[in-house]
Amino acid sequence: MTILILGAGQLARMMCLAGAPLNLNVVAYDVGSQKVVHPLTGEVYTTTLTQAIDQADAITAEFEHIPDDVLTLCCASNKFYPGKAAIKTGGDRALEKALLSKTSVKCAPYQLITEKAHLEQAVIALGKPLVIKTCQAGYDGKGQWRLKSDEQIEQIWSEMADFIASGTDIAPHSIIAEQMIPFDREVSIIGARDKSGNTVIYPLTENQHTNGVLTLSIAGKEKTTIQQQAEDAFNKLATELDYVGVLAIEFFDVDGQLLVNEIAPRVHNSGHWTQQGTHSSQFENHMRAVAGLPLGNTQLQRVTAMINVLGQAAIPTQVLSVPDVTSHWYGKTAKPGRKMGHINVSAATLHELGERLAELSEHLPEEDYPGVLATSTALI
Ligand code: ATP
Ligand code: MG
Ligand code: MG
Repeated sequence: MTILILGAGQLARMMCLAGAPLNLNVVAYDVGSQKVVHPLTGEVYTTTLTQAIDQADAITAEFEHIPDDVLTLCCASNKFYPGKAAIKTGGDRALEKALLSKTSVKCAPYQLITEKAHLEQAVIALGKPLVIKTCQAGYDGKGQWRLKSDEQIEQIWSEMADFIASGTDIAPHSIIAEQMIPFDREVSIIGARDKSGNTVIYPLTENQHTNGVLTLSIAGKEKTTIQQQAEDAFNKLATELDYVGVLAIEFFDVDGQLLVNEIAPRVHNSGHWTQQGTHSSQFENHMRAVAGLPLGNTQLQRVTAMINVLGQAAIPTQVLSVPDVTSHWYGKTAKPGRKMGHINVSAATLHELGERLAELSEHLPEEDYPGVLATSTALI
């Protein structure tokens, strides 16, 4: 079988790596260059998008900000998963909030903004501080502003206008203001749903962000009550979207109550730990779901932490001397802050994981790899 992935970044690469042992041939469509490419080697094929769609047995995506014409072509083939509604919802915070409201899944109090007066009203209705986000096109904390005082309204409004004007596919004046949630921590749930509606769900992941970007995830710490809340949200949202594939949901944990931050209709950075922590990774399960194969085991095999490598030209090779460490390199050109690769480290117990993180922290400077040492101290 051949699977076509929209997007040719690291997520497509890791789906390709997971698909090969399943005898799945994976090709990617690079939306930027408009070329069909090999997701691992970058080899450019002469195939057009239309030909790639015809040749594919199933089509999926590694990101949600897909140009309308491409999405329409893919959906017309009836081979596209997780489906148009899921991709549109994941790519637009207004649609996302409407879905949460329809399914009675809790999120931060918010207001939609289409003109400057609404922003002033939101400050009065929701209080301060606020997080202001463009509804479309944001990722890794881009397209977001923190409003702490009324004096910032003018400047944030003009910066937002510039951001919106800089993108080609962003609807003007589509903005959301959310209460800034004083969360205890951030967690995410990742699960897969197959074409018959069967689901498998991974254990909850605890996530640390630095400047809006995920830096470290850890799996295997959870209490069942919180896991249950996250699974309920997953089941409601996946059912409502008639979802096929892997779906990720990010939450704020406020005193044991989960509020949804956002959803991602795809494999997700906070699920990279599943490559070593479970029997079937999120990449494998996404490939299985879209290819119509039975879903694989998502139970935790070993507690695992994932550390993102941001902007570095290589992973320090000494990390491989620490037991049960794996390196995942994406083969991209280094740029400051860019996701270049990740490191997974597994252990039999949380205590042992803490010891391994302590060892890793000797090779990973705090300024480039925040949270490694602090997490190790917390676990030991
Ligand atoms: P991603 O790369 O995960 O798609 P994104 O650009 O879509 O990122 P969000 O997940 O919405 O952005 O926000 C990034 C981070 O900013 C969150 O993980 C959280 O740390 C913080 N944040 C966002 N919204 C809020 C909020 N309402 N209250 C408090 N913190 C928030
Ligand atoms: Mg997002
Ligand atoms: Mg996010």
